[in-house]
Amino acid sequence: MKTKLAILPGDGIGPEVMNEAIKVLDAVADKFQHDFELNFGNIGGSAIDALGTPLPEDTLELCKQSDAVLFGAVGGPKWDNPKAQTRPEDGILEIRKKMKLFANLRPVKIFPALINSSPLKPDLLKDVDLMVVRELTGGLYFGKPKKRWSNTKGRKAVDTLKYSEKEIDRIVRVGFELAKKRRKKLTSTDKANVLATSRLWREIANEVAAEYPEIETEHIYADNLSMQIILNPARFDVIVGENTFGDIISDEAAVLTGSLGMLPSASLSSLPNINSSNSRTASLYEPIHGSAPDIAGQEIANPIAMILSAAMMLRYSLNLHDEASAIEESISKALNEGYRTKDISKDGGQVVPTSRMGDIIASLI
Ligand code: NAD
Repeated sequence: MKTKLAILPGDGIGPEVMNEAIKVLDAVADKFQHDFELNFGNIGGSAIDALGTPLPEDTLELCKQSDAVLFGAVGGPKWDNPKAQTRPEDGILEIRKKMKLFANLRPVKIFPALINSSPLKPDLLKDVDLMVVRELTGGLYFGKPKKRWSNTKGRKAVDTLKYSEKEIDRIVRVGFELAKKRRKKLTSTDKANVLATSRLWREIANEVAAEYPEIETEHIYADNLSMQIILNPARFDVIVGENTFGDIISDEAAVLTGSLGMLPSASLSSLPNINSSNSRTASLYEPIHGSAPDIAGQEIANPIAMILSAAMMLRYSLNLHDEASAIEESISKALNEGYRTKDISKDGGQVVPTSRMGDIIASLI
């Protein structure tokens, strides 16, 4: 059966790293006899240049009609004019909203070969394998009122932190479902000591926890968690938090791997059907890094985050678990053989250009 994939390379290094992910998907299709139909869509700054909008209607339609969306990155100094009507980043925000992608999954796993590339001591990094689950469509980023004004007393601004029972329940459930297939531990983070939304969050997390007696559940204040994740990252399995806390914690966790170029993400619109073979979740997969205009066009971008995002797509949207594992294993092999892109070369491995790293990983499938 044909699998329809929407491919949105975007700007900067987006198209460069996407090329490498496509090479690897081609290798998977060959080895496992799949028919991936790749349909390309315009998004971000390049779409503004061509069509005057960061998310053309036919790109959105393509995403909705596809089994999954693979996205590179958007943005760059060319479109940074503060007076501009629209920005490249609006394109990806709009897709998340229109496709109701409320669950952002960010796995953080240290490849043993890269243990010396992290700023943290190798001892701390042994056995780190955690998953941050961030709520993506609610909270401070979207709550109304959201505005700024001035009066005789000076300038003021307000953002609104609002969560409904339904929003909390569905994201916490994603965390528990993932924990069930992992090491059966869930850390819910909040600021229940000061925030009403956090007290509701904790109450609902405890109600959902009662349905998952096999999972060990704990609650940690977000400020304490941000210390613990550096002091003892290996103690965590699944961490679930609202939009702002999830954003901060997942970027902090990214430091553990030594480079933004190593971390993939998935944005889902429903519970992941891990290990089941009868359902598909149309969602979006992207590296956590941006368009890196400072290194674009130089063949030094690390394509691994993009390639790992393609592996997540195979696992979560297409239920192709062996294929996803094959990609992860080829990345491990390439790193074990000493191949490095510039950003992860502190340990003295052999530095190869972006396209060569993609060739090597594809050849090891
Ligand atoms: P960035 O993630 O693009 O880059 C941060 C730093 O990490 C840079 O020094 C960059 O060279 C490096 N880096 C990033 N990815 C790398 C890779 N694969 N290999 C090697 N090094 C890598 O973040 P930024 O510089 O803050 O933002 C640049 C542009 O990207 C901005 O326009 C921003 O709005 C946009 N952005 C887009 C997304 C997205 O499309 N989802 C996410 C974040 C930022």
